[in-house]
Amino acid sequence: MNYQGLAQRSLQGLPLEREQCYSVLRCPQEGILELLQSAFRVRERYFRKKVIVHLLINAKSGLCAEDCAYCSQSAGSQASIESYPLLDEEKIVEVASIAKANQAQRYCIVTSGCSPSGAELDHLCRVIRKIKETVDIEICTSLGFLTEEAARRLKEAGVDRYNHNLNTSQRFYPKICTTHSYADRIETLQHARKANLKLCCGALLGMGESEEDIVDLAFALREVEADSIPINFLHPIPGTPLETMNYLTPLKCLAILSLIRFLNPWTEIRIAGGREYHLRSLQPLALYPANSIFVSGYLTTDGQAPDEDFQMIRDMGFEVAQGRIGKIETTL
Ligand code: SF4
Repeated sequence: MNYQGLAQRSLQGLPLEREQCYSVLRCPQEGILELLQSAFRVRERYFRKKVIVHLLINAKSGLCAEDCAYCSQSAGSQASIESYPLLDEEKIVEVASIAKANQAQRYCIVTSGCSPSGAELDHLCRVIRKIKETVDIEICTSLGFLTEEAARRLKEAGVDRYNHNLNTSQRFYPKICTTHSYADRIETLQHARKANLKLCCGALLGMGESEEDIVDLAFALREVEADSIPINFLHPIPGTPLETMNYLTPLKCLAILSLIRFLNPWTEIRIAGGREYHLRSLQPLALYPANSIFVSGYLTTDGQAPDEDFQMIRDMGFEVAQGRIGKIETTL
């Protein structure tokens, strides 16, 4: 496969043909360096060698009535995780300062559950206003489904971006969740967009989806035209329905990231949950297609130490976009 030709096509803003997408996903081991170099050509055009750092807080954990099969916070999950209600203002603001002190460009406030209650939304809007008054950092929230009114209130409070992932293809969606639909997800994205929130909309791979599903999802993400695409690789957590689903390889993850880059040349692509678990020693290579990472762990799983992330970025000859490199101290 001529991967350089795909990079050229991507740089012209053209989508790949479906057959070309399959060729990327099926990239043989001996073709991976050319694939990554081609994906890097596209990434470099828009993001040079910068890596955008995010830090997230799981501001409300567990206790969710939805049945997302991958999620340790679902009511149907037996996973041993810490559950707690919405954190108080002091804690959420404190972690914003920690993110800022380490020059994370964006602070992601995530809550479990279908959607925030009225009281939770009131609390979060107060907290967001407080952060905006005291800490100079962009805020992304991921709070589940939103009404138009809730989206508008978040925007007014100071939220910059809203995260709501498609996760998988429309076809495969009923296999991973029965309590809400793919269409529900699209609706929330529309509400967020209407409220002038920037969109963060990503994927979760490795749940048993087919190559056709991956390609459908990749095109759906292109259609959303989000500012940011987080790519998660399923970390199979004991006690969840997908606890034995573990087949991704590092090379497959790199091929998926390259495909997403070719189809979304100017979009921030973040290697998110499952980075350390599935990419293992090949993590640094993922920075060729991707230009963004989370540091300091994920919702219910730990990541590698932030110092190791920053060392990896330096070792690759890349640099953190905006800011000091330092250890993140968090008690969460
Ligand atoms: S709605 Fe969110 S918190 Fe609830 S089960 Fe699904 S992914 Fe987990």
